[in-house]
Amino acid sequence: MYDLKITGGTVVDGTGADRFRADIGVKDGRIVEVRRRTGDDAGLEGSENPAVETLDATGRIVAPGFVDIHTHYDGQVSWDPLLEPSSLHGVTTVVGGNCGVGFAPVRPGREQWLIELMEGVEDIPGTALAEGITWQWESFPEYLDAIEKRPLAIDFGTQIAHGAVRGYAMGDRGARNEEATEDDIAAMAGIVQEAIEAGALGFSTSRTEGHRAVDGEPVPGTYAAERELFGLGRAMAAGGRAVFEVAPQGAAGESPAEASMRELDWMTKLAAEIGRPVSFAMVQAEGVPDLWKEQLDRAGKALENGVEVYAQFAARPFGMLFGFPGYHAFTHRPTFRKLKEELSRDELAQRLADPAVRAAILSEDDLPPQPLPLFDAMFALIQHSADRIFVIGDPPDYEPTSEQTVAAIAERRGEDPLATMYDLMLESDASALLMLPFYNYVAGNHDAIYEMMTHPAAVSGLSDGGAHCGLICDASYPTFLLTHWARDRHRGPKFSLEYVVRKQTLDTATLFGLSDRGVLAVGKKADLNIIDMDALTLDLPRMAYDLPAGGRRLIQGAKGYDATVVSGAVTRRHGFDTGARPGRLIRGVR
Ligand SMILES: [Zn+2]
Repeated sequence: MYDLKITGGTVVDGTGADRFRADIGVKDGRIVEVRRRTGDDAGLEGSENPAVETLDATGRIVAPGFVDIHTHYDGQVSWDPLLEPSSLHGVTTVVGGNCGVGFAPVRPGREQWLIELMEGVEDIPGTALAEGITWQWESFPEYLDAIEKRPLAIDFGTQIAHGAVRGYAMGDRGARNEEATEDDIAAMAGIVQEAIEAGALGFSTSRTEGHRAVDGEPVPGTYAAERELFGLGRAMAAGGRAVFEVAPQGAAGESPAEASMRELDWMTKLAAEIGRPVSFAMVQAEGVPDLWKEQLDRAGKALENGVEVYAQFAARPFGMLFGFPGYHAFTHRPTFRKLKEELSRDELAQRLADPAVRAAILSEDDLPPQPLPLFDAMFALIQHSADRIFVIGDPPDYEPTSEQTVAAIAERRGEDPLATMYDLMLESDASALLMLPFYNYVAGNHDAIYEMMTHPAAVSGLSDGGAHCGLICDASYPTFLLTHWARDRHRGPKFSLEYVVRKQTLDTATLFGLSDRGVLAVGKKADLNIIDMDALTLDLPRMAYDLPAGGRRLIQGAKGYDATVVSGAVTRRHGFDTGARPGRLIRGVR
């Protein structure tokens, strides 16, 4: 008797192999049968193959659950069992603790400092983190113990973050990015090794000045010397098999190309010395539009020599989303400010449509931006970017042409671009969002991303699930890889469904040593999706106010996932949470 059987589907098994018709039998959370079907073969359909539950996958694709290795659910996991938006997109495993920021270890009394670090770097509302996080830990192993007790719909693995480690071991000196002494490095190394031994899947560090705490201080560790990085890398390796994740200098396009290439030098040297994978964030930035090719080239050469250096690519441009509910061009106009302070969200949305209010806002001068909070000058960037801010359309189009920019639309309307921008944002009761593809869109198309995706040293990452709540919602990459890259792209070549599934199942699971998942085969974990490829569609991103303390976050769902299964339990049907909580903390490689 199976616990679950999935019949009639077409299996895309995660290895990249051609799809095949097969039924799948599940018992005790594992796949125990993959019965190929040819011709009239009844597979597992008959009553001689009983199951507690049967899912009919006729006409559907059956694929492994997606493994998203670059998320920031480190706080959210302590209050939210669902880990949305990722779990809305067929993701059954997330890895957190990226980019050098996390919540353990923490000294009593330093919780708020870690919150402000995360808020600044990842734009997760500090009030939500403060209200939501339970802080039942001091050490990293205690953090894992606390998370392990939480009910979860999907699996959660995490990494120990350099920022937290530095703050813990070095106090204010670490927080202020002072140089670590030998004693400091030894103390930090002990913490890192202990974390890996307790089950952390990696160590992460941020070296980009684009990542800053609320007070403007770059993430602790940003300027760490090589001996500190190597000391911690060796400690990680001593703890077990784990990944060293880096948001390198220049990751936000803030440094000259030479600086970014120097990062490849030490990362390659480190990977070779410790015999562990190093994975770094890679995007195409305006100032250095071809740097990613050199980075991939170098990573590829290392790989050929058996040194595991992988670039994480983003499946689409980093889409900064602007609109009245979030950041926009008019945040510093006095009339907008005043109305926002006085009115509820609904009232504000109504008043913005009032022609007198519109005229006032459009005619006013901006109040000066403040040095803090971060992003307070965003309005100025937006005002000057009408020629690269796009309407998204419905369903959302992430490879829009220049015809779809605010500037082009304004020209067709014979209007000032800011007036056009205002009116476009007024749509859908002033909830409409416009998109600025900040990285990976220098040529105005996805050709660079296509090339990244073909490279053997590139892994799918950077969705930043759970982060950038007011500005970006790219946790939907897993769905986008299927809809855009395997089905809808019309401005250039596509990939096979088999390829894009592999990119976010076998490949990502393998990088993190999770050999128990990522493939639909006997003995593997029963994490899978039943997907209606004809119906699969991304919803429009929208602002929700459902974080603790009413905090805002951009959220984006999808249609077309008939079911998502985690460890043999159906966690979602047609997008809706079933209430099942089979998710677990992942402790260490398997
Ligand atoms: Zn990140």
